[in-house]
Amino acid sequence: MNVQTIEGVTIAHVIPESKGRKMTPVYLFAVDNMLVDTGPSNMYKTLRPFFDAQSYDFIALTHNHEDHSGNVAELANQRELPVYVHEIGLEECFLETPYPYYRQLAWGERKPFQPSKMPDQLTTSNATWDVIFTPGHAKDHISLLDEQTGRLFTGDLFVTPKPKVIMEAESIPETLRSLKKLLNYEFTSIFCCHSGYHKNGKDMINLKIEHLEALIAQVHELTDLGHSIDEIDKLLYPKTYPIETVSEGQWSSRHIVSSIVEEQ
Ligand SMILES: [Zn+2]
Repeated sequence: MNVQTIEGVTIAHVIPESKGRKMTPVYLFAVDNMLVDTGPSNMYKTLRPFFDAQSYDFIALTHNHEDHSGNVAELANQRELPVYVHEIGLEECFLETPYPYYRQLAWGERKPFQPSKMPDQLTTSNATWDVIFTPGHAKDHISLLDEQTGRLFTGDLFVTPKPKVIMEAESIPETLRSLKKLLNYEFTSIFCCHSGYHKNGKDMINLKIEHLEALIAQVHELTDLGHSIDEIDKLLYPKTYPIETVSEGQWSSRHIVSSIVEEQ
């Protein structure tokens, strides 16, 4: 685990391994008295020194995926700890591992927990955080912004400017709308749960917007020419990524194309 503090945010960075293979890096954050996301449960032991060193008294989840909510039950069991999740995601948190087996293998078992509805704003000891509803990657996804300093927690909304595979429940047009929504706010840096801190956060968000706009235009053009989703997928994403095989197609470039075609 690597821990560093940037712009008053303490960042924990871990690279989980599954069957000896390095997986997507995971970042979680502590700022003032707030913990933003908790990482996957199979990284609890590694992350424990970070949790122990922080003086948070509530947890905000950007969304309820198990690599963000994996340690909530463990942390909330240790003491009374309010946990906030967007209301759309509340019910899933009550359930025992409501996600496919390959994700249980990758991230471990996420124990159920009892969160409260995310308010419109969160107040920490030194800042006020606007809660911005930013679905697309997940239906309950939010971002947290301190407009005073321009710091923005983007959960899994950014991750990479040019996604090659997404999960079935994700939507590229919805992600694009959420990214554009962020441009209505004043922000500078972003804190991403899988790519970490970006000082030039606004540029990174703009880069992804540009890519997704061009991609959507291209998919629309190919659809108008009579190509099917599978044909467009093969044309735009000829390569098969290991995650597509491991997840038995639950992660796939095809979902990128189909989410665009379905909204056309
Ligand atoms: Zn996620």
